Amino acid sequence: MSGCIFCKIIAGEIPSKIVWQDENVVAFRDISPLAPTHVLIVPRKHLVTFSDFSAGDGPIMTSLAVAVREVAKLDGVLESGYRLIVNNGPDGGQEVMHVHMHLLGGRNIGPMIKRSVPEG
Ligand code: 5GP
Ligand code: ZN
Repeated sequence: MSGCIFCKIIAGEIPSKIVWQDENVVAFRDISPLAPTHVLIVPRKHLVTFSDFSAGDGPIMTSLAVAVREVAKLDGVLESGYRLIVNNGPDGGQEVMHVHMHLLGGRNIGPMIKRSVPEG
C-alpha cells in the first residue's frame, strides 16, 4: 500500500536489517530497539490490525509462527525466552498501521503490562 512505511521496507524501498523472510512474512530489526533482540515480524500483505486476518490467511499465520521460532533461534533466545506483542489501534498504542508482531528478548522483559492506569 502506497504511503505505508512497512510496505516500503518489504519492497526494499527503505533499508532495513532483515533477519528472516519467506513468501508471506518479513522479519527485520526495529529501528529503535527496546531490548537486545527487538525484531518486527510483518506479513507481506498489507493488513492494518490483527482483526483484519481472515480465513484465507492461514498460510500467513503459519509463516508468522515459523518466523517467531526461526528469529528466536537465530538470536539465541529460544531457550531464555522472549515476548510477543501486537499493538492494535489507538488504545493498543499502534503507531505503524501495518499489522506486525514485536519479538523482544535478550534480557528479562519485565512485567507483562505496567499498572499505570487506576482500575475502576
Ligand atoms: P507499533 O507501536 O506500531 O506497535 O510499533 C511500530 C514500531 O516500528 C516501533 O517500535 C518503531 O520503532 C518501529 N519503526 C518505525 N519506523 C521504522 C522504520 O523505518 N524501520 C524500522 N526498522 N522500524 C521502524
Ligand atoms: Zn503496509
